[in-house]
Amino acid sequence: AAKRSGKGTFRFFNDEMQKELNAAKALEKDIDDAITLGQFKPVFQPQMDALTGRIIGVEVLVRWHHPQRGILLPGDFLDVAANLGRMPEITRLVLDQAFQAASEWKSQGIDFGRIAVNFSGHDLMWNGFFRNIAQLAHEHGLACDHISVEVVESVAIRSDNEQSARALYELRKLGIRIEIDDFGTGFASLSHLNRNLFDRVKVDRQFIANIDTCERSRIIVDSIIRLASALKLEVVAEGMERQEEIDTLLQLGCTQFQGNAIAPPMPRTVAKDWLATHCGTGRLPDALVVETH
Ligand code: C2E
Ligand code: MG
Ligand code: MG
Ligand code: MG
Repeated sequence: AAKRSGKGTFRFFNDEMQKELNAAKALEKDIDDAITLGQFKPVFQPQMDALTGRIIGVEVLVRWHHPQRGILLPGDFLDVAANLGRMPEITRLVLDQAFQAASEWKSQGIDFGRIAVNFSGHDLMWNGFFRNIAQLAHEHGLACDHISVEVVESVAIRSDNEQSARALYELRKLGIRIEIDDFGTGFASLSHLNRNLFDRVKVDRQFIANIDTCERSRIIVDSIIRLASALKLEVVAEGMERQEEIDTLLQLGCTQFQGNAIAPPMPRTVAKDWLATHCGTGRLPDALVVETH
């Protein structure tokens, strides 16, 4: 019996592994179609500054509208796409749609600040990619000073990698802002912040979730805010879902917010209505209304 169950267990793991492998293989096969058929679409998540009551930016996040599996999140497919070397194409498709939307909103008088796009290490290594962004922005009549680029710490600090450092430098010369995403989760030595290459740090959600009850998170975020402000960098907090998290961040002096408590990532038409409402009137989402005396 023992032998049989051992064998069964072995076969069970094999089946699971085989399933995962097949799923990844199926995705690989689907990516070609997805690119050709335009199944990659942007969603948009607003950023607000509670101090001024203004919308200061909108982050672009990719979604894959898969015909069988529904809407897939970046975590479901970005690694597969990157391993296949298809990220630059996907980035371009998403940017094209996002810049088009941004340009349309601007021309309708919706002042949402900057459109923020995410770049992977692969994107930065793509030869001439920064010229492509500028070109794409130009084609859509979108000024470079209405764009910001987010890179995760590990990419931002890769000073051993001349090509990506140069790409960031070139972007910044165009008026595009550079931000460090998921700040606090990577391996950045804090001295990298002092290179005068970055404009803002985005504090990762792992420190924001439950910041009201977790003292360690509060200490970490407090020190990030102090350091950033001493270096004249802006700080935005990511992923707040509850009022108590917002209140704690305000107490710590963080006033820039991007998270579901303000607004979730939204498809283009929904985002436009949300932005038109909140940009036009300067009306804060309820979560950000601070009592004044
Ligand atoms: P990120 O740039 O740090 O984006 C923020 C992530 O946090 C998004 O996940 C967003 O949906 C999620 N988020 C925002 N507010 C909340 C909240 O209140 N609660 C929770 N639980 N989550 C919240 P998403 O869309 O799954 O994207 C994951 C990551 O994938 C992004 O992290 C970014 O690194 C990457 N990514 C997304 N779109 C693109 C893209 O077009 N190109 C590249 N290269 N990477 C992308
Ligand atoms: Mg980001
Ligand atoms: Mg992030
Ligand atoms: Mg992230």
